[in-house]
Amino acid sequence: MKIKLFTVFLLYVISSYAQDFDYARNVVNRLASPEFKGRGYVDNGVKTATDFLTGEFRKLKLEPVVNGSYSLDFSYPVNTFPGKMSVSIGTHELKPGIDYLVEASCPSVKGNFGIIAVRPADIDSEEKLSSVIEKAGDNFILLDDTHSKDETRETAEKTSEVIRFLKNSTDIRLKGLILCQAGKLTWTVSGFQSPRPVIILNKLPELKAGDKIKINIKSKLIKDFKTCDLCGHIKGSERQDSMLLITAHYDHLGMMGKEACFPGANDNASGVAMLLNLAEYYSAHQPKYTIIFVAFSGEEAGLLGSKAFVKNPPFDLKKIIFLVNFDIAGTGDEGIRVVNGSIFKNKFDLLARINNDDKLLPKVDIRGAACISDHCPFYESGVPCLYIYTQGGIKAYHDVYDRAETLPLTEFTNYCKLMIRFFDSF
Ligand SMILES: [Zn+2]
Repeated sequence: MKIKLFTVFLLYVISSYAQDFDYARNVVNRLASPEFKGRGYVDNGVKTATDFLTGEFRKLKLEPVVNGSYSLDFSYPVNTFPGKMSVSIGTHELKPGIDYLVEASCPSVKGNFGIIAVRPADIDSEEKLSSVIEKAGDNFILLDDTHSKDETRETAEKTSEVIRFLKNSTDIRLKGLILCQAGKLTWTVSGFQSPRPVIILNKLPELKAGDKIKINIKSKLIKDFKTCDLCGHIKGSERQDSMLLITAHYDHLGMMGKEACFPGANDNASGVAMLLNLAEYYSAHQPKYTIIFVAFSGEEAGLLGSKAFVKNPPFDLKKIIFLVNFDIAGTGDEGIRVVNGSIFKNKFDLLARINNDDKLLPKVDIRGAACISDHCPFYESGVPCLYIYTQGGIKAYHDVYDRAETLPLTEFTNYCKLMIRFFDSF
């Protein structure tokens, strides 16, 4: 009976602290709000997020790891779009982020250019390719790749080879490429500029004879963009020299011009909300092991924050007994998926067992190794780790629709409880 009462008490304590749903919601709303400019490279976006998180770390009384400061500085090259951006085809003005994207590596371009429309099937030999390029001169080629789903693998490979050549060849006069793809627009970050602009459309425009593309894109390559990871900790009550790491990246894609903002609510304001919720819980309940909280920058540019951390660690990485990375934590309608689950199978089994016993999330799926988020550089350095993401619900990803207003945080509270039970089991 005593044990039962104690369990009930413990569960009460866990739920009363783990259910700080309002805090999580506020964090997501703030980080994905217009003020943060998509936490990228225009108008101090990611810097605003750095300052906000520094304030939260301080409020939660996390102790700095190095020299009284949370920040671990690093820098990298990045192509940015701080200026005006406009693209019209014929008389139709396209909306940035909704009707089109510019490739992340797009250089500046301005003017009126003719359009030569072709289908990949029309370019089935080198001669045909040469004649299309010849015909286009210093105008744009519009490539209709909207049927790529029906293509055979061989055709698809040929198409991407043609696209690669048209994008990158420096020996041709071609001004630029309009790529019409089926499906959603998905943006990225680039550390360089391509030789010519590529405009990506999500549907084929209705072209009339003589229609031109009127385009004005201002891009700026920053050779040495400065940012930082944030690292704070809560000392363990027993094992201060053995650490658990809780990580999540706080950067996102930023702005594509002055209008199109990529808010990154699910990716990864939600993961940061998880990190801060866990920090809030453990600042009120001292853990046995020291817990280090790391918010990475530069993830979207190629895991650059975690790579910088591993390259120049503020403590010996051998002291890390386990790391869990959160990147996309905002739904959960179909549970979670655990990268590295099949590699650290006993930890995966433990997580699945807790979930089963406490009936928290609809599903805990296993996955093998995948170098797709910030756990990866640690894993490659021999640190045992899992990367967990939620599944189901809204499908917005790397687009202008990944907004706080539509992010449900469906299973956030139970997800948080599950993680507390998991970390407490060490
Ligand atoms: Zn992400």
